Amino acid sequence: MEGDREEGKSFKDLGLCEQLLEACDRMNWKYPSKIQAEAIPHALEGKDLIGLALTGSGKTGAFALPILQSLLDSPQPFFACVLSPTRELAIQIAEQFEALGAGIGVKCAVLVGGVDMVQQSINLAKRPHIIVGTPGRLVDHLSNTKGFSLRTLKYLVLDEADRLLNEEFEKSIDEILKFIPRERRTYLFSATMTSKVKKLQRACLRNPVKIEAASKYSTVDTLKQQYCFVPAKYKECYLVYILNEMSGCTSMVFTRTCDATRFLALMLRHLGHRAIPISGKMSQSKRLGALNQFKAGECNILIGTDVASRGLDIASVDMVINYDIPTNVKDYKHRVGRTARAGRSGVAISLVNQYEVEWFVQIEKFVGKKFPEFPSQEEEVLLLMESVKEAKRVSLAKIKELGGKNGKKRGGDDDDEDMDKDTDKYMTHRNVKSSKKMKK
Ligand code: AMP
Repeated sequence: MEGDREEGKSFKDLGLCEQLLEACDRMNWKYPSKIQAEAIPHALEGKDLIGLALTGSGKTGAFALPILQSLLDSPQPFFACVLSPTRELAIQIAEQFEALGAGIGVKCAVLVGGVDMVQQSINLAKRPHIIVGTPGRLVDHLSNTKGFSLRTLKYLVLDEADRLLNEEFEKSIDEILKFIPRERRTYLFSATMTSKVKKLQRACLRNPVKIEAASKYSTVDTLKQQYCFVPAKYKECYLVYILNEMSGCTSMVFTRTCDATRFLALMLRHLGHRAIPISGKMSQSKRLGALNQFKAGECNILIGTDVASRGLDIASVDMVINYDIPTNVKDYKHRVGRTARAGRSGVAISLVNQYEVEWFVQIEKFVGKKFPEFPSQEEEVLLLMESVKEAKRVSLAKIKELGGKNGKKRGGDDDDEDMDKDTDKYMTHRNVKSSKKMKK
């Protein structure tokens, strides 16, 4: 967080009350991040906010602290509602509210899909101060849970608004806006300023103060961006080669599809790597489990799609690999933003095959520079071919076997359990090359 720190300002200078200063202290937040330093004073003045900031910039604190300060002034249930596009992000936001509000008895409820609605209704009956949820489930409760209403709501936060405005959420957001009072404060946080965000800003916010903590895309100096041109048929070989070369690093590997996350994780595990997939096909508890294993260091390679990986609160990883080139430059920005955070160094390597050159050229144009090539030795890569081929064969057979059971395709959930068992088995047969430390 030091890299994002606003020089010279303390939390006290921002106008926070004693109890919240203590809360920051307990969290070991020594200085406000840039977005916090810029947003909090305006928020405390009662302004609407529009913040352009990524996860990792401290944006949760930027909206949670002023909301908590206002709650302290006039405590009431159903005080604020935060909407997030993903369940994981909603849970992380609630955790930060709870941690910051621990000393002042703040009650939160998380309303996300994939979790029992009855338990959530019981939590709502306890009349929490803060509701954090995904749009669909919130609408479900607003429509069906007796005694629950947001008629007295004072704050609405739309986090990752650019994603919340995708078609899948549009209807739910419109519904929610009908359920809540117009007389309220609204904070809108987004990584990018799309035309839809602009439209929502006009519809929802009143004279907002605009804050850009991560303004135009600018890659930090500590981020090394490279590409590796690979023939499509050897793509897996190159992935294994890079991971072997960089073993000891924490990495995130991005793929286009959920199936690819599962396949690559199985393949890499067979080759002795500690890889774990995270995808929309997994149940909520499995996704959290994967995230926790990665955070705890039990696995050092997280393989995900853009959707599953956005907004996860993960400390800076050493390396991002674009296994599939994103077709959208904004996704590129989000992916590489996972590394080289807070002054740490990091590398982002894009594997480009013959069909992806066009997208890659767009990315270089967007970033505004030509990337150097990742130094790979083709002979060495091809030496891996036999073992990779075998790992692919075993993984495909496994997927087929799991898919065939009970005569129907099973979800990722049970497969993961099988993968867990497999990990132990394969870990004892490590055949990866001896570790080389990351070249910085
Ligand atoms: P966010 O961007 O809100 O997802 O926050 C990313 C991470 O930074 C979280 O783990 C926060 O606990 C942490 N964080 C937020 N604000 C600060 C701060 N001022 N100093 C240090 N860490 C912070």
